[in-house]
Amino acid sequence: MHWADVVAEKLLKRGEKHVLATAITPSGPIHVGNLREVLTTEAIYRALKEKGGKAELIYIGDTFDPLRKVYPFLPSHYEKWVGMPLSEIPCPCEGHKNYAEHFLEPFLNSLKDIGVTPKIYLAHELYEKGIYKEAIKTALDKAEVIREILTNIAKRELPKHWMPLSIKCENCGKLYGEITNYEYPIVTYKCKCNFEGEVDIRKGGIGKLPWRIDWPARWKIFKVTFEAFGKDHAAAGGSWDTGKEIAKKVYEYEPPMPLVYEFIHLKGKGAMHASTGVAISAEEVLKILPPEVLRFLFMKYEPYRHIEFDTGYGILDLVDEYDKYERVYFGVEKEDLKNARRVYELSQPYEIAQKLPIIIPYRHLAVVAQIGKNFEEVLEILKRKYKLEKFDLNRLKERYEKIVYWLKKYAPDEIKFELQYEKPNVEIKNAEKDFLKNLLEKFEKIEWDAEKIHTTIHEVAKETNFPAKKAFQTIYKILLAKKQGPRAGYFLQSLGKNFVLKRIKDFIT
Ligand SMILES: [Zn+2]
Ligand SMILES: [Zn+2]
Repeated sequence: MHWADVVAEKLLKRGEKHVLATAITPSGPIHVGNLREVLTTEAIYRALKEKGGKAELIYIGDTFDPLRKVYPFLPSHYEKWVGMPLSEIPCPCEGHKNYAEHFLEPFLNSLKDIGVTPKIYLAHELYEKGIYKEAIKTALDKAEVIREILTNIAKRELPKHWMPLSIKCENCGKLYGEITNYEYPIVTYKCKCNFEGEVDIRKGGIGKLPWRIDWPARWKIFKVTFEAFGKDHAAAGGSWDTGKEIAKKVYEYEPPMPLVYEFIHLKGKGAMHASTGVAISAEEVLKILPPEVLRFLFMKYEPYRHIEFDTGYGILDLVDEYDKYERVYFGVEKEDLKNARRVYELSQPYEIAQKLPIIIPYRHLAVVAQIGKNFEEVLEILKRKYKLEKFDLNRLKERYEKIVYWLKKYAPDEIKFELQYEKPNVEIKNAEKDFLKNLLEKFEKIEWDAEKIHTTIHEVAKETNFPAKKAFQTIYKILLAKKQGPRAGYFLQSLGKNFVLKRIKDFIT
């Protein structure tokens, strides 16, 4: 069984109604590693519904979290905003409502692209509307229990009178107010800026529960029954360990079923973290990968499996692998891939195609995309080899656009070339000329097919006693003005017979 179905069945044994929660702090670009949490949860949500359960998928943007520091991607003048809620800090590009929106907006758009449509809540609105009111009162009333849990399980050393609520200072606007006295409904506090004040906790937005308390509080508020989280939260004494206890002992709520997922590593750079800059945003990844392939990456591997994300050749391999699953799904390829049909189904952002779309190997598309000057020209080239139906064009166009972006920004140099539309200014020797003359003769007679082109080059090289390696170099030279290029057979086929013959003639006469 697929992992999403396994978890869904476990959940159904607990009950029929479920709320699956996912959350991210929009303190920086939301990266593809964060998508794992959302997509893992969404797959289970889909599985639950298919099995007849009642399920709700919610997404909480932690917009009321304070800015922790000036991250490497921020200008230094952001220093003055450190400690303020993300929802109250100006956006770095000046085009969004606030700092949190700046990072949330592109991410939520990406979610739509990959077919994830949760009910969205923003933490600062929840606090301002007073949704946390009860949870705050309970936390303060049971502050001693919370202190004990944090001391015993998280090994925190807390001041004797520490209270589980950070007050938003009325003077500096930062979440640095520490409670000095609590007598319901009034708390008095002292801020790092030395301001002392008092507020009524029944009022919305006066402060925020620290993360370790906020998390179990929202389980109760939203009746969360499932939550996936990264292994940082799952470490011994981490926020999951304390969260469970706080849920039971403070909020009298049974903690949700947990699922710990592994981080995504960026090849050659380590685990992705927005704060260290080792990350590629979800939005950016969707510029180089079709949404179904991005989903596929997470559906194929169990959530606890390590994923190494490679923006170079890895992209080509990933799409090829997806295509293989697609062929298996549509029954045109028999291959024993684990849960192939289910992985394919769960990889679809929206509907599953009615029939097998045309599959052009991504490597071929990478070649053709560099030959044609635009999508129309690329289509013309492809039509020489493939029978394209109207049904295929949207997907083909999408893939073409992504590959063009990838070629521009991420593709390894070896894969890139510049076709010389006019005869390039390169010198060729007599031996090369001889080889080309013989090649021309043979080329004129053969059917213009990649396989045949390839064997013909070898044959002619052998007959003319010209080393095969040099033969290929000569061909690349007259077409690309350099010594290497894409696999010759398919490359020459894509250029078209006329173009290639004319170019050879240009060099031998
Ligand atoms: Zn902005
Ligand atoms: Zn202050």
